Amino acid sequence: MVDFSLSADQESLRDLARKFARSDMAPHAAECDRTPRFPEEIYRKAYELGLMNLNVPVEFGGSGLKVFEQCLIVEELAHACGGMTTSVIANCLALEPILLGGSPEQQERFLKPFCAEYNFASFGLTEPSGGSDAGGLQTRARREGDHYVLDGEKCFITNAPHASLFTVFATVDPSRRTKGITAFVVPRTARGVSTGKDEEKMGHRASSTSTVRFDGVEVPVNDRLGEEGEGFSIAMRTLDQTRTPIGALATGIAQAALDLAAAYSLKRQSFGKPISEHQAIQIKLANMAQAVHAARLLTWQAAWTIDQGGKGTLESSIAKCFASDSALHVADEAIQTFGGYGYMKEYPVEKLLRDAKLTQIYEGANEIQRTVIARELLRRYA
Ligand SMILES: Cc1cc2nc3c(=O)[nH]c(=O)nc-3n(C[C@H](O)[C@H](O)[C@H](O)COP(=O)(O)OP(=O)(O)OC[C@H]3O[C@@H](n4cnc5c(N)ncnc54)[C@H](O)[C@@H]3O)c2cc1C
Repeated sequence: MVDFSLSADQESLRDLARKFARSDMAPHAAECDRTPRFPEEIYRKAYELGLMNLNVPVEFGGSGLKVFEQCLIVEELAHACGGMTTSVIANCLALEPILLGGSPEQQERFLKPFCAEYNFASFGLTEPSGGSDAGGLQTRARREGDHYVLDGEKCFITNAPHASLFTVFATVDPSRRTKGITAFVVPRTARGVSTGKDEEKMGHRASSTSTVRFDGVEVPVNDRLGEEGEGFSIAMRTLDQTRTPIGALATGIAQAALDLAAAYSLKRQSFGKPISEHQAIQIKLANMAQAVHAARLLTWQAAWTIDQGGKGTLESSIAKCFASDSALHVADEAIQTFGGYGYMKEYPVEKLLRDAKLTQIYEGANEIQRTVIARELLRRYA
């Protein structure tokens, strides 16, 4: 039987996230976007409430949540601020390779001390030469006895300037493409690790993004995740887990846009009546509501599939792609509903459009999601 009701635990998790989002995040969203500012005090509180290391098992100090519960939380946070949400959930992305590819000894050694304190980790896959073609990455890992030497540069890395730990993907042999890619855990304190300046971004400006350089960084063989050549699979399986919460993040932005547009339409008058009484606006709101609803249901279904033990590649790609496209469209329609005021920075809807845009790009651009969807689909017809 399909059941869309939430358990008491799920409801209390969602309520915790909603309360935090509305009382701690939302009041600072505009200021952190404008300045821009990385609000450490808010992230620290998210950590203290157990909203940061959502996917890490409780035995290692995380919240031990399934993907479905993660999505409930992420949607609530994103309703208040997409950028802050990106920074709050980036640890899930960065730590997932350790959960998927790390030995029990590595999980204990890396995750326990990390989660015991307020810390950031970053996921280092994308490089200046290209993110979509991850199999073509150029960062080198040369084995020298009991350690590897890493050389290369990653770009667009979320939270990198604040990270104490990096999961890094490098190749032991570029000619082997995906089969040469190997995953490592690298502490920020390792000699030769440096981060670049904070990128000036269109949206998600409460989040921090920069390059990370590895110049002759020595990484013990003990800190390699899995075997040589297993890194690509670890990265792809990581994204299979974390893509669905991006669907939830996009849904949160879209829901915020719908809420603002509907409330505004009841107050704003034109031709002697609220604009909500014009059918053109009603149709707009109805279409926005359909998109939000469908995005949420696709996200929940993808999360459910993964939580049941399924790979969820098709479902999570569909959810992420649809929810992010919907978020951009719904935010656009919210601006249109606000008319000229929607275009002004004084009002909150233009930020939603800028924040929604990123959800179409990161964790696999939507063109790549469509490629994945088509591949998975065609396989079933072959
Ligand atoms: C704010 C922000 C935060 C990010 N955080 C992280 C992070 O923490 N860690 C990390 O590793 N990465 C991160 N990324 C990187 C992100 O995942 C990449 O930007 C994304 O995967 C796209 O890679 P690219 O930018 O190199 O674009 P490219 O790969 O150069 O692609 C350019 C365009 O071509 C399209 N394209 C490319 N190949 C194909 C194809 N085969 N078929 C059809 N279309 C194609 C793409 O969809 C895109 O539209 C972040 C990016 C941003 C902007």
